[in-house]
Amino acid sequence: MSVKPPLGPAAPAARTLDPADWEQFRRLSHAALDDMISFMASAGEGPVWQAAPDTVRQRFRTAIPHAGTDLAEVLADFRADIKPYGTGNTHPLFMGWVHGAGNPAGMLGEMLAAGLNANCGGRDHIGLEVERQVTQWTAELMGYPKDASGLFVTGTSMANFLALLVARTALLGTNVRSQGITATASATLTSYTSAEAHGCVAQAMELAGLGSANLRRVPVGPDGGMRTDNLAQMIAGDRAAGLLPFMLVGTAGTVNTGAYDDLTALADIAERERLWFHIDGAFGALLALAPDLRHKIAGIERSQSVAFDFHKWAHVPYDAGFLLVRDPALHRQTFASPVAYLSRAPRGLAAGETWPCDLGPDLSRGFRALKTWFTLRVHGVDQIGACISHCCAVARHLERRISASNLFEVVSPARSNIVCFGIRGDAKGERNQAMVMDLHESGEAAPSITVIDGRPVIRCAIVNHRTSEGHIDQFIAMMTARLTGSAT
Ligand SMILES: *Cc1c(COP(=O)(O)O)cnc(C)c1O
Repeated sequence: MSVKPPLGPAAPAARTLDPADWEQFRRLSHAALDDMISFMASAGEGPVWQAAPDTVRQRFRTAIPHAGTDLAEVLADFRADIKPYGTGNTHPLFMGWVHGAGNPAGMLGEMLAAGLNANCGGRDHIGLEVERQVTQWTAELMGYPKDASGLFVTGTSMANFLALLVARTALLGTNVRSQGITATASATLTSYTSAEAHGCVAQAMELAGLGSANLRRVPVGPDGGMRTDNLAQMIAGDRAAGLLPFMLVGTAGTVNTGAYDDLTALADIAERERLWFHIDGAFGALLALAPDLRHKIAGIERSQSVAFDFHKWAHVPYDAGFLLVRDPALHRQTFASPVAYLSRAPRGLAAGETWPCDLGPDLSRGFRALKTWFTLRVHGVDQIGACISHCCAVARHLERRISASNLFEVVSPARSNIVCFGIRGDAKGERNQAMVMDLHESGEAAPSITVIDGRPVIRCAIVNHRTSEGHIDQFIAMMTARLTGSAT
């Protein structure tokens, strides 16, 4: 395919960032894409992770490049110094933390979005339609009304924070935006979440100026879900003390053990107490896609807002967090500004009613919706749901293997996709920590460490669509070899 000549005279080479030789650019780009396709096709080969050597790190300490470098040379540097030293979350034996594994169609969507270079903060262009489409799909999946409002953000940390701001506006009115909390709240605002909730919930209280000390951390029961009797007592206690309970944050999938709050019970309490009911469903909200697991998030449809990540269990390339809000007007009232340069026109490029910049603090925004749209359309949500179900089956397989072993013991069972376990007799968890670090450094596997009842334990979060029962068997074999090897 040949390139059409430009309409006018081309800008002098020194004043444009376009390549002087498009054909050469095309060749190099095709090769780079091929290279990344091979990278994905061989995601299970090689080490899961390797630390970048100091010699490589040193190469990122150069002075600012005043003069340009050939693209071929920069690509060679990427191949040698960047590509081998990623997190490893594309690899099937990456089981640490809760990371999505990416997917080839999503990668392509990301590349195409970069080509379009659309600014999805606003204006009348197709990028906003794609985001609205994904919002509608999400609303339907979560059992929300069709007109629910949605916004792509970096991740669930940001989405939880924005949800809290909407909840604050619901309670105090839009005056809180100009007058602040002290002038609009009659008492100290308190919110409630599980003791197992993600740290970003407390951080959201801090960022909003409400104070993390005013977040009550409700104890969990044996299933890891919030104890609703304690919740009710805490709310009553705060009301008796003259405080102003305003928000309840339920967790669908705790980061430590994969536990689910009883969202129906929480919805009942939130209704009775007139609290904003928000759900942190960072990974777990997407159980909506898995018919055999969906019951765990029953009640999500009664919440006022949901935060979750497409980059976790839907494997959209980072980052693709999402906030869904039931009341579109309230969502808009929390963030929209009547500034002149964002005013809407009846026609033309500045047309449209609600723009994404009315729904959050970001004005310039990338086209996160495109890689998500690619991922959902190419695979279909049923397939993504099947991968989620499979992850939970793989976690159960891991739990069975650990239970059957005389070297290890289960510390937290496979409630969904997360299993925590320890080496038998390792009361202080020191050998657990050493095992995890050894596995990381050898590149064999990447579980993570978490602390349960004061003891560091080995944690495997099965999120990766590439992880199979066979990989778990390999994982058990490599740990066993390490333990029995060191014992002789
Ligand atoms: C990952 C996670 C978060 C944070 O999400 P980010 O996308 O990393 O900001 C919050 N809550 C839970 C339960 C999580 O698993």
